[in-house]
Amino acid sequence: MTEASSLPLRNPRTGAHDGDLPITPAAEVAALGQQLRQAQQGWEQQSIEQRCACLSALADALASRREAFMQVLLDDTGRWHESAIEVDGTIAAIRRWAAQAPAVLAEKPAQAEAIGFISSQQTWVAYPVVGIISPWNFPLMLTLIDAVPALAAGCSILAKPSEVTSRFVPLLREALAEAGLGEVFKLVTGAGATGQAVIEASDQICFTGSVATGRKVGEACARRFIPASLELGGKDPALVLSDANIDNAARALAWGSFVNGGQSCMSIERVYVEAPVAEAFTAALVREVSALTLNCEDPAQGQIGPVIAASQVELVRGQLADAKARGARALTGGELVERGGVWCPPTVLVDVDDSMAVVRDESFASVLPVIVVKDEAEAVARANATEFGLSAAVFCGDAQRAERIARQLHAGGISINDACLTGMVQTAEKQSFKLSGMGGSRMGTASIRRFVRARALLINNGTASPWWFPPAA
Ligand code: NDP
Repeated sequence: MTEASSLPLRNPRTGAHDGDLPITPAAEVAALGQQLRQAQQGWEQQSIEQRCACLSALADALASRREAFMQVLLDDTGRWHESAIEVDGTIAAIRRWAAQAPAVLAEKPAQAEAIGFISSQQTWVAYPVVGIISPWNFPLMLTLIDAVPALAAGCSILAKPSEVTSRFVPLLREALAEAGLGEVFKLVTGAGATGQAVIEASDQICFTGSVATGRKVGEACARRFIPASLELGGKDPALVLSDANIDNAARALAWGSFVNGGQSCMSIERVYVEAPVAEAFTAALVREVSALTLNCEDPAQGQIGPVIAASQVELVRGQLADAKARGARALTGGELVERGGVWCPPTVLVDVDDSMAVVRDESFASVLPVIVVKDEAEAVARANATEFGLSAAVFCGDAQRAERIARQLHAGGISINDACLTGMVQTAEKQSFKLSGMGGSRMGTASIRRFVRARALLINNGTASPWWFPPAA
């Protein structure tokens, strides 16, 4: 049997197969890796200012194709407002790196060491080929989020976006070529086998995706002794304390749980609310969520887009059926809507418990279970009783109490009196805890240090070292 040379593309709004995605053969991925390894040598020798000038040109090339990028993202994801946020946010992030990277990687003068006649010079050496394997929920942003600082650091890039959402690839290739980056940034397309070929051809991997695939990627990288940055799934909790501003909490969580149809790693997927305000909070949440509408008719109207990946539909259906069979009640939504594509109406669930899949496992959909707790201690304990540790949110009227609670949560990014700030603020360092990931911070200027190895030049000023063997007679 001959291997398939393409994969069908599914439009999430219609459910129709309306295109084909070529599969880059493994041998071609390997050859591209070799080409990149060659090209990277000249790239790293350029000054960081020259490399950042190319990044600014990339931002310009994306900006001049803004509408075209939004259209291909719409075709792959079925949502419009988030596509605008994605394109504009990506352009802004590239411009920020172009401005900041030179100072972050600037070499300092040689330093005196504790041993008086020795000084040291710290230098950085880029990893030649950084492989990027990215998911389908923010296709463009998550393909570039690590690639851009890696390019600034002097690496070349071999990227494989998700097979579900690769329609932007030809357009990005065009923009890269226009920015003078075509030789140091190659994109390949395909599914898991292509991802494995990327790992084989790279010197470091940045993977964003599920825990299950992340484990396979981490193991493959470990076999090759190459570093892996793994940014994986979550089941982010929000804690609503009895002194919280209830209306703000409800509005923030309606956004933080349902933006992008809940298909964001940092989506709030569980709420623990203190009993005294549970009724008022739930009523406010239902009020806010009831105002959200599906974008079935017109992608630019309505806040909730379709379920992007066909593979998600049965997972969400199964979680909802399991929860309802075990006594959960949907105060809004609760049933998937099929119009060719499939929409998950924003669903607030009550009468749930921690043993239900919808509370325990990642949903990655617009489903939000609300759980009443007796006090702060129970809220913290139940929020932490998960294998994930991506991010969380605390709503509390007392700033000191909020901070004290936030410091007890086992997650890398905690929003206080807001939700999902880790998606909007990319300048504060954070790492993933537990199964949500591994590796250095993707956020903040320190993120760029993941792409260089530290090399120390240790310099003797001409003094005979006292530890040498006695001079030969
Ligand atoms: P997957 O893990 O299914 O896929 C991620 C990428 O890995 C895709 O490009 C996929 O290709 C590729 N892949 C699949 N199998 C292999 C393999 N064996 N070896 C190498 N690569 C492989 O994730 P999803 O695309 O479904 O994305 C959703 C997940 O991503 C959620 O769990 C979400 O929480 C997480 N995520 C995490 C973020 C974070 O920052 N922590 C941000 C965004 C999402 P293909 O799609 O073609 O099969």
